Amino acid sequence: MLKDFVSIIFPEYCRACLGPLERNEPYICTTCRFSLPRTNSHLTEMTALTHRFWGRVPIWHSLAYLKFTKGGTVQQLLHQLKYNDQREIGETLGQWYGFELTEHGFAEKFDLILPVPLHASKLRKRGYNQSDCFAKGLSEGMRVAWSPDVLRRTVATPTQTKKKRLERWQNVDAVFEVTNEDFLRGKRILLVDDVVTTGATLEACAQELYRVACAAVSIATIAATT
Ligand SMILES: [Zn+2]
Repeated sequence: MLKDFVSIIFPEYCRACLGPLERNEPYICTTCRFSLPRTNSHLTEMTALTHRFWGRVPIWHSLAYLKFTKGGTVQQLLHQLKYNDQREIGETLGQWYGFELTEHGFAEKFDLILPVPLHASKLRKRGYNQSDCFAKGLSEGMRVAWSPDVLRRTVATPTQTKKKRLERWQNVDAVFEVTNEDFLRGKRILLVDDVVTTGATLEACAQELYRVACAAVSIATIAATT
């Protein structure tokens, strides 16, 4: 409510601290940009994140840009991206992360970026997929192609937040399908989502990608719980 009011009076405000933006600052002010809590998973391979997939599905690189903490700046940014039509947040963070990953040689490691899709009914309701925004930004930052419609979610899953971990794994089982198998064969995929918690959704997507003979699947998210 306050944010909506602020955005009407001052359209150019920082989405993290709500302070005014300088002309060259896109959506997030420089102070907030440099105080974002980075995981630096591209430097350390963030073993804790990789461990979530061990024994389930081979993930080549597990990358997360920021640390998710309850009530923190990152949660606030993700909330605005997901529910408040602030698509630019996803795109901007994607570009910044894409630049960082490119500096460390990651751009050559991927042939195609695929966002985790929303079910068609949810997409119609929200009007956009927040993971598309991040994928688009990463694509621009790394100069790697992305596609919003190669991967499709076939069953609308009920909200997962109240389910136990085991139920969550079962809940997303086999709900993703590929629309163009030939296009993906042999490709090194970077699968992207806004946030990773248990990894169940990303795992289900990765399994489908390996089923159609992708060469390798890596993941990148805006944020990860630690
Ligand atoms: Zn700020």
